[in-house]
Amino acid sequence: ERRAAVDAARGPGATADGHKVPLLANIGGPGDVSAATEAGAEGVGLFRTEFLFLDDSTKAPSEEKQVAVYRQVLEAFPEGRVVVRVLDAGADKPLDFLTPGDEPNPALGVRGLRTLLDHPEVLDGQLKALAKAADGLPVSLEVMAPMVADRADARAFAEACRAAGLDAKCGVMVEVPSAALRARSVLQEVEFLSLGTNDLAQYTFAADRQVGAVSRLQDPWQPALLDLVALAAEAAAAEGKSCGVCGEAAADPLLACVLTGLGVTSLSMGAASLPYVRATLAKHTLAQCERAASAARAADSAQDARIAAQAVLSGE
Ligand code: PEP
Ligand code: MG
Repeated sequence: ERRAAVDAARGPGATADGHKVPLLANIGGPGDVSAATEAGAEGVGLFRTEFLFLDDSTKAPSEEKQVAVYRQVLEAFPEGRVVVRVLDAGADKPLDFLTPGDEPNPALGVRGLRTLLDHPEVLDGQLKALAKAADGLPVSLEVMAPMVADRADARAFAEACRAAGLDAKCGVMVEVPSAALRARSVLQEVEFLSLGTNDLAQYTFAADRQVGAVSRLQDPWQPALLDLVALAAEAAAAEGKSCGVCGEAAADPLLACVLTGLGVTSLSMGAASLPYVRATLAKHTLAQCERAASAARAADSAQDARIAAQAVLSGE
């Protein structure tokens, strides 16, 4: 019965009353594209380009190789959006030629955009390869930077995109609490936000995402995390810009409804979760999602937030 309900729900993501929430896929490369299109993804919300770099951690891949890989992905979504994240090296994804080996706290050190600003030729090479790959294709290309902390980071990334001659929307990931707290300021420089809830939880709770002993604090239902999501979504709405979620939180169907109620404008997840999120979203109105979001934020723990949202969404 569940399978039938999942199969029946096709087409774009929307609440029961027709509020559209594009459902996008998280991918690591061309090998993930067919699962995404089969699940009915409306595009890609997070293309983690670091997999392309992990093949050889001594140097960046050639421009030809990058163009070929990006083009394969962009061609798969002719009418859709493809959000490409520039290289997120460091911390849990170290690269020999880029990542300092002597940091006491790599997650708090030079990683993500910080690495790219220290190696502008790598960022520029990636942006130019993306511009070439998208040339002549109807796809809507969007490019975003990981680990952005403030407006200066956002400006540096936007300037790099312009300097590379990239004709794409330029955005930033919200993974550091400072970026959520000052989202309106960050949005003066870029066109969209995408919440990386995995890292946002790690940095909000000072709980290493790779340490199982503190996994309780990595729960995306934590009300403090929901507060930061709400802040970012409200800032984006005030600026007339979009604010998606591309962390694991978007893959939990119930939490996807809560995120929608908080004002998030798109949800990106592994393809396997997409049909379940689509089916659950289609059963609830935007007003119900908003009530579930308020109930979850009023709770004092992740567990109580989940129970409170479930009660609102099932008591209808
Ligand atoms: C995140 O941090 O939520 C995210 C989507 O990026 P990654 O998991 O690749 O760090
Ligand atoms: Mg991240």
